[in-house]
Amino acid sequence: MRASRSEVRTFNGARDVNRRADFPLLANDPGLHYLDSAATSQKPASVLDAIRDFYETSNANPHRGAYALSVRATECYQQARQRIARFLGVRDVDCLIFTRGTTEALNLVANSWGRAHVSHGDEIVVTALEHHANFVPWQQLAIEKQARLRVCELSSDGRLDLDCLRGLLNSRTRVVAFNHVSNALGTINPVAEIVELIRENSDAISVCDGAQSAPHLPVSFDTLGVDFYAFSGHKMLGPMGIGGLIGKRATLEAMPPYQTGGDMIEFVGDERTTWNVLPHKFEAGTPNAADAVGLSAAVEYLEALGMDRVLSHERSLMSRAQTRLEEIEGLRIYGPPALGRSGVVSFTMNDVHPHDLATILDGQGVCIRAGHHCAQPLMRRLDVPATARASFYVYNDEADIDALVTGIMKAREIFGYVPT
Ligand code: PLP
Repeated sequence: MRASRSEVRTFNGARDVNRRADFPLLANDPGLHYLDSAATSQKPASVLDAIRDFYETSNANPHRGAYALSVRATECYQQARQRIARFLGVRDVDCLIFTRGTTEALNLVANSWGRAHVSHGDEIVVTALEHHANFVPWQQLAIEKQARLRVCELSSDGRLDLDCLRGLLNSRTRVVAFNHVSNALGTINPVAEIVELIRENSDAISVCDGAQSAPHLPVSFDTLGVDFYAFSGHKMLGPMGIGGLIGKRATLEAMPPYQTGGDMIEFVGDERTTWNVLPHKFEAGTPNAADAVGLSAAVEYLEALGMDRVLSHERSLMSRAQTRLEEIEGLRIYGPPALGRSGVVSFTMNDVHPHDLATILDGQGVCIRAGHHCAQPLMRRLDVPATARASFYVYNDEADIDALVTGIMKAREIFGYVPT
């Protein structure tokens, strides 16, 4: 049976702020405890309204028409780019390329920059902490180019082993791909230190997967120092199907296009074509303007909360969750201590398969993820086929943690857990 929740929600100690009420799916189901925001986040009404408003008042194909409605659609799309760029600390707005999300952004870099710059005998470094989206494109590029894929290993508590990274870097290293925050363990990686190591020991470019950092931490591309940064709108309160790649102007301008077609051309001759300027060169076809507008509304929502507050809200939920989960006998938490983590906690429980655990929790109205989290190289190193993962966001509170713990205790009961 689902627990009812009190009317007043907390956000970072501000008892008068009812965040959950901003999210129709959650507001309509008070007994639902959504703890799978690392997979995708819920959407506030302001995002849903912005998308609807675009279609009701400004819908036309951007960049295509000379009539006022098309100009308005183009303006909405460009304003969304500006707002999202500002949120992510990108001064050169045209260096934010809209993509379908992080996966497409990383494939863009591997296919465009990678194919042009990686050759036989070169080396590509990825980490054992990567989501498949930042592992497989590099692995495939290495196979195609007969380059060597090298994997940076982890410390026993799920942090990148920076000595290992240092040892992998050399004059043949072309790319170092790593995430800012791990989706499977929540590890927050020290980007500045990693960039410094790369610069000191190689001429490689740095490719940062920001799918789990843009939603949860203050991020400034211009100060991070990486060459590329990828993100997904749907994990940061925005709609599915929109995200982006941020790069440096000189690098992006020198890269060949990833896809070809409408909008990305300057001149098409019978034999040759020249390319449009940034960002259009990398945005072939009709853009997803409505969802860009929706993501812009999501960013506005996050800006109003303040990313420092978002982070500290998640940290306080995380440390409470960690304390409560550690009290459960037979439960094992993976990854670094709560302070080195974003709002993600991965765990297993003796004898109960994570999928069974997730199914029992679902019966209690608690949504968690179970599986390999698209991080099979990591699971192999943890020596588990799967973990259960709970992840927090702005609409979660202590009642969600209580429901998680109660659900786990219930699973223990069902499985007749006997302490060893
Ligand atoms: N990278 C990380 C760290 C992720 O968590 C995810 C999604 O779970 C991705 C990449 C892929 O993102 P998307 O499916 O939005 O392209």
